[in-house]
Amino acid sequence: HQKNLGRGSFTLFETALANDIQARKEIEQDLRRALHNQQELSVNYQPQFNIQTSELTGVEALVRWKNQRTDQWVSPADFIPIAEQSGLIYLLDKWVLTTAATQIHKWHHMGFGHIVLASNLSTVHFRGDTLTTMINDVIKTTSINPASLELEITEGLFLEEQSHATDQLDLLRSQGIRVAVDDFGTGYSNLGYLNNLPVDSLKIDRSFIDNFDKNNYYRSIVNFIIELGNNLGLDIIAEGIETQNQLDALVDLKCSHGQGYFLARPQPAEVIEKLLIDTVSPMEPPAFAEDPIA
Ligand code: C2E
Ligand code: MG
Ligand code: MG
Ligand code: MG
Repeated sequence: HQKNLGRGSFTLFETALANDIQARKEIEQDLRRALHNQQELSVNYQPQFNIQTSELTGVEALVRWKNQRTDQWVSPADFIPIAEQSGLIYLLDKWVLTTAATQIHKWHHMGFGHIVLASNLSTVHFRGDTLTTMINDVIKTTSINPASLELEITEGLFLEEQSHATDQLDLLRSQGIRVAVDDFGTGYSNLGYLNNLPVDSLKIDRSFIDNFDKNNYYRSIVNFIIELGNNLGLDIIAEGIETQNQLDALVDLKCSHGQGYFLARPQPAEVIEKLLIDTVSPMEPPAFAEDPIA
């Protein structure tokens, strides 16, 4: 029924836009404060499993933010894009990596030495030249074994500045750091990059897992990604497993790894530590423990 987009509607649109810009500015200011005082941010850990053996193989670090000013939890989906646009992502990802690597190092020394830390890394980092320095700083300050670190990067990386990104990935991987393609299948499906194998694992996006046990189209895609990965020697991690049916079907399709609410939710470190103690057999501390010779 709205025929004339008169002056009133235009003003309404302008107001909405102004409100949106204002809201983003506020999130940016609040996030800057949070990164400075470091009391509003925390990290939750979501277990990853080898679904063929049920073994817990790693945890994904997921940032959590309770905005002190509004007293509300803010979803990463709402503040990560703003962090990327404002440049705060450099501080944020380094803070998450340092916090999580410190935690994982502690768990390694409690005897859970095989647990891999998966951490999300914005593709923004690959535009500059500071990424490898940042990662090496984290490794140095936390003493984490580089082979226990898996960086999750979205497919978008393989669209922009391809050779620069590949050079940086090669450098990181030459140190033993693992690279996973997050949300695999939702990007632009430029499968050409996999030919050079600059990655170690593919994470099948949750949107495919959501309906694949009922829908033949999604099942074909999931099956294709698993076969591709298995043929290329890559780990395949199914994201967002929410039901027993989905898990069973993925095991049948020879998917190696899985993650999702049905297996375990993202939880604070204390809760994960209890889970490790209760369910994972401790092993000898790893060989990279501090040298005892004095
Ligand atoms: P992601 O890396 O794909 O992480 C998986 C997201 O799915 C997480 O949401 C997780 O809580 C959620 N999830 C896990 N299992 C299930 C499930 O079974 N069902 C459903 N419905 N959801 C599930 P979260 O924590 O809100 O994070 C959203 C996105 O924000 C992440 O997607 C990642 O892209 C980004 N992100 C989170 N933490 C960081 C970070 O420290 N740095 C950067 N750069 N990005 C981050
Ligand atoms: Mg991820
Ligand atoms: Mg994902
Ligand atoms: Mg994502």
